[in-house]
Amino acid sequence: MKIGFNKPYMVGKELWHIAQAHHRGYLAGGGEFTRLCQRWLEQQTGAEMALLTHSCTAALEMAALLADLQPGDEVILPSYTFVSTANAFALRGAVPVFVDIREDTLNIDENLIEAAITPKTKVIVPVHYAGVACEMDTIMDIAGRHNLLVVEDAAQGLMSTYKGRPLGTIGHMGALSFHETKNIISGEGGALLINDPAYIEGAETTWEKGTNRKKYNCGEVDKYTWVSLGSSYQPSELIAAFLYAQIEEAESITERRHDLWNNYHRAFAEAEAKGLTRRPIIPHGCGHNAHMYYLLMPEADKRKAIISALSDKEIHAVFHYIPLHSSPAGKRYGRANGTFEVTDSVSQCLLRLPMWIGLEDQQRNVIDAVLENIS
Ligand SMILES: *Cc1c(COP(=O)(O)O)cnc(C)c1O
Repeated sequence: MKIGFNKPYMVGKELWHIAQAHHRGYLAGGGEFTRLCQRWLEQQTGAEMALLTHSCTAALEMAALLADLQPGDEVILPSYTFVSTANAFALRGAVPVFVDIREDTLNIDENLIEAAITPKTKVIVPVHYAGVACEMDTIMDIAGRHNLLVVEDAAQGLMSTYKGRPLGTIGHMGALSFHETKNIISGEGGALLINDPAYIEGAETTWEKGTNRKKYNCGEVDKYTWVSLGSSYQPSELIAAFLYAQIEEAESITERRHDLWNNYHRAFAEAEAKGLTRRPIIPHGCGHNAHMYYLLMPEADKRKAIISALSDKEIHAVFHYIPLHSSPAGKRYGRANGTFEVTDSVSQCLLRLPMWIGLEDQQRNVIDAVLENIS
């Protein structure tokens, strides 16, 4: 028995779509499959505009450019997140300001945000961990009162909602990932959702390497030229072709992941009741996409013991983020605001279990192996 932590799920039509792109002979970015994916994202989420990128990291970098950050400007985000959430803004010379997370969702603690705001604060970046929404009403209210931009890191959040609204569409912008470890995939891939129309024109030029090529293509200008900062953010049409096959199956992929997630959740209810572990908490009003199943162990040693016991059975379970506030680059480029009890504890005690379509047949083995070693 060998059970990996992740196994990319192919829906079956990916190569067929790629063959179509090949047949058409158009392989660069911005082709028919790119348009189809973007239209689907706009319809699915209700975003004003969706632009495919080659990663969520790239989408966050676009958002940082659009925020027009100056060196020394500050961006508030959780310490418990992936590197790109901070790095995209640090690349612009901005200072990531880290705050602690909530104990229940492991998302940014919205009650700590105001204390971290200074006259230099420009952006708040909520990260929807495990596809479970941050407390967006409070965050948008704080942003409104302090005139801040909100860029949602919704890398894990496609098909999740907050009070009925798709993640990535509540802030001014939202970034999605289609990395092979996410639910809907293209190997590498991402998208920037633009919700505030004020950023649409800027987003288009940034996406087109800083040129007004879109206006040229539409006949609005007679030559295209360099008009702003930008870069090469578009995925090839081959990637978009692959992705389009996946998004056609987004509903069924989400359903199948929910079945797996619910199996785990039921199986560990008793252990939680006995105080041996803590299961994920989904607050009222959050519709989640079953991106991840994790357990919070009471202590770091317990997690270590389970990871190694599972490893002996060739089951690959893993920990997650190393806090950014105490990382070498976090200390060099960022600032820690307040204390990080929850971040540090979760970083040491959180255990992620295998979660992929196709695991159904072997999921019982994972559950049994965890239960055998949990007491
Ligand atoms: C996966 C992930 C990213 C990075 O996504 P890429 O598409 O690999 O660039 C950023 N933030 C979070 C929270 C993620 O989970």
